Amino acid sequence: MQYNEVMVRYGELSTKGKNKKKFINKLIQNVKFALYDFEQLEVTGDRDRMHLKLNGADSAIVLERLESIFGIQNFSPVMRLERDIEKMKKITVEMVQELYTEGKSFKITARRSDHEFSLDTDQINHLLGSEVLKNIEDIKVKMKNPDINIRVEIRNEGIFLSSETILGAGGLPVGSSGKGILMLSGGIDSPVAGYLTMKRGVEIEAVHFHSPPYTSTRSLQKAKDLTSKMAAFVGNIVFIEVPFTEIQEEIKKCVPEGYSMTVTRRMMLRITEKIREKQNGLAIINGESLGQVASQTLHSMIAINDVTVTPIIRPVVSMDKNEIIDLAQKIETFELSIQPFEDCCTIFAPTTPKTRPDLEKSRRYEARLNIEELIQHTMDNLVYSEIKVGDTLENQQTDKYSSLL
Ligand code: ATP
Ligand code: MG
Repeated sequence: MQYNEVMVRYGELSTKGKNKKKFINKLIQNVKFALYDFEQLEVTGDRDRMHLKLNGADSAIVLERLESIFGIQNFSPVMRLERDIEKMKKITVEMVQELYTEGKSFKITARRSDHEFSLDTDQINHLLGSEVLKNIEDIKVKMKNPDINIRVEIRNEGIFLSSETILGAGGLPVGSSGKGILMLSGGIDSPVAGYLTMKRGVEIEAVHFHSPPYTSTRSLQKAKDLTSKMAAFVGNIVFIEVPFTEIQEEIKKCVPEGYSMTVTRRMMLRITEKIREKQNGLAIINGESLGQVASQTLHSMIAINDVTVTPIIRPVVSMDKNEIIDLAQKIETFELSIQPFEDCCTIFAPTTPKTRPDLEKSRRYEARLNIEELIQHTMDNLVYSEIKVGDTLENQQTDKYSSLL
């Protein structure tokens, strides 16, 4: 069947009270953005539904893209008709016919938001049900778990018929909860942390620390590729490269080995904090999971977190590795994450980092560095790019510092 519209249902947004309009507008904007290459598409939204008029666009691709947009509970390809009862009967029969094979059962589920309509829901169910029975031999009606369920919605704007309801990604529209800065390594955890934060409506920008020549361009590319995968949920993501070689070399020179990891993390967090301020973010997100490695104990968190009072969101903090891997597979970042490229943190990692670093000592050792100057120098050399879903090395646009600001 050549559907002419897609109907989107919001779910959790329906409970947003006064802010509902803002959420819906954000969602419309995100949907338009995800489908930017379909010029003929018309997107409109009211209080409880969004309508996408296809105007000939390929519904299969449109449906696939909608699946990863946060803020959508479910959606259906629909036939929208004028309020013409004969036409409604005809299309209903055609829809059932298309899905029917021997032995299958069906049901009509009518809803009426327009109470002026001449038939009530029971009458519509009966009218359309008997029309199907008249036209399709041997088909049976079944109220519980029918094989074919035709949903009929009578609304002011028209009559909507659908036979399929596709589960959406849930969550809240990205951007409706403000912006956060994701610390993105090339590992398994941080992309999953980014995904979970976006799911609750936070727009993210990704910050990646690298230390050439100790880390290769391929490890930088891996972080960009991961960003491109995450962009499937939003369309595009700002990616910020942080040159970290100078600071890591200084730490190696000045800080006792047992504390180099803690001080490195403190410096990463200080820089991320500066970037957050500059980019008007409200939070920092990382992929720490409690107890996974030395830097992810509660003692370490106290010693590292000391440098900022900005909220740090750790979406995977209480998840087991297997649970994180399951999600990484679902969002298709896992295969990329397990490619064996070095991370700046592991290259300089001490063989025995402290799992219980002392806060005072961490501060004292860090003070051996010229913190302000090192940070300023790093901030002057950030590289910004904007990464779209499906981007590859060849077509990524990379501009030197602040081109996007
Ligand atoms: P991941 O799987 O995300 O790499 P991990 O288990 O390997 O995490 P660590 O290497 O200790 O853990 O890193 C903890 C967190 O610190 C990461 O999840 C990420 O948020 C941040 N991080 C680590 N390395 C980098 C980096 N090179 N650039 C930006 N953030 C980083
Ligand atoms: Mg890692």
